[in-house]
Amino acid sequence: MKYVDEFRDGALARTIAAKVACAVEPGRSYNFMEFCGGHTHAISRYGVIDLLPQNVRMVHGPGCPVCVLPIGRIDNAIELASRPEVILCTYADTMRVPASGYLSLMKAKAHGMDVRMVYSAADALRIARQNPARTVVFFAIGFETTTPPTALAILQADREGLANFLVFCNHVLTPAAIANILESPQVRGIGTVPLDGFVGPAHVSCVIGSQPYEYFAEEYGKPVVIAGFEPLDVMQAVLMLVRQVNDGRAEVENEFTRAVTREGNTRAKELVAEVFELRRSFEWRGLGEVPYSALRIKPKYARFDAERRFGIEYRSVPDNKACECGTILRGAKEPRDCKVFGTVCTPESPLGSCMVSSEGACAAYYTYGRFRDASGLQRQNARERPAPRVSAPLAHREATSDASSASGAPR
Ligand code: SF4
Repeated sequence: MKYVDEFRDGALARTIAAKVACAVEPGRSYNFMEFCGGHTHAISRYGVIDLLPQNVRMVHGPGCPVCVLPIGRIDNAIELASRPEVILCTYADTMRVPASGYLSLMKAKAHGMDVRMVYSAADALRIARQNPARTVVFFAIGFETTTPPTALAILQADREGLANFLVFCNHVLTPAAIANILESPQVRGIGTVPLDGFVGPAHVSCVIGSQPYEYFAEEYGKPVVIAGFEPLDVMQAVLMLVRQVNDGRAEVENEFTRAVTREGNTRAKELVAEVFELRRSFEWRGLGEVPYSALRIKPKYARFDAERRFGIEYRSVPDNKACECGTILRGAKEPRDCKVFGTVCTPESPLGSCMVSSEGACAAYYTYGRFRDASGLQRQNARERPAPRVSAPLAHREATSDASSASGAPR
């Protein structure tokens, strides 16, 4: 555990905070989008925002795979699970995402459908082997990180001649989502979402490498710093972004050098290319239809494709009118802007997907109860709950008070 502790060291965090405070130029604002839900979680859990000067604003991005899944895709999964011969296997978080008609996969299971929680595609493969008389459908979601294991499962099923294993493929692509955000009217046109740079994904970049982000730096003039998911990773990435903005540079820098290379994981990319191809379009919650932003199974492996086998058709379903997930995922609002945050909508009873996954912005805000309101004050959330018990040295109460005095950063 020594390795992780080093990346949660409170004294080091205060040192970086002081450097950020020195680096920012007074009167200038810095708006950085952390694309990944993992970064949103780290920022909330460790109180990173409290260590940053007030003119550095972190904007949450759409990088939470459960959050971006639209209601229509959950409806499709329930439709699959409703078939008597089907065992639907899915990750835990996906089971609680609200679907149409006040349903969810969890409620579908309570109604008698055979929905099973798995940790991986390999688990679903094992269930298929154990139940040769049933059809096992793996509800595959996620970004480039979870796609190679799904490809491996399909290839393994192919090798074993498993005829009862299918995949309902909903894997999505990070670069397409970043491009969609940069092309959105809020960023490019009316400018209601100012963005000066990106904290680039950690695990996704382990697979795809840093090279795909070079386009955004060159074409849109936005710096990208790929960062790990520990609090010091995020702090260091913010410092690197501030320096790029000050210098007028727009480059791809890699803070997460212990895991990410420019090329990424070549073998994993080959596996994905063998099994999947681009979808022409895919609906994301919050972003709408995004061209070439998701994958489907190639015709060569069509016998493993649940959509083809069962003729599943996608129907777009609007979000609950009270839910602001869409605007939060576009970076245009924050959880505290939602009128039902922490009241009608809680992790125990989520109204929208952003309150379901621990990577969702609403769940992160609710769990760690910390945000900065419009006046710049640090607030607990509506329930005034105590600080979470964090075993790491960077417990956020300590970090907040000490960093304020050490860095002299405006609070
Ligand atoms: S608090 Fe709930 S309803 Fe509001 S935006 Fe978040 S998930 Fe949606």
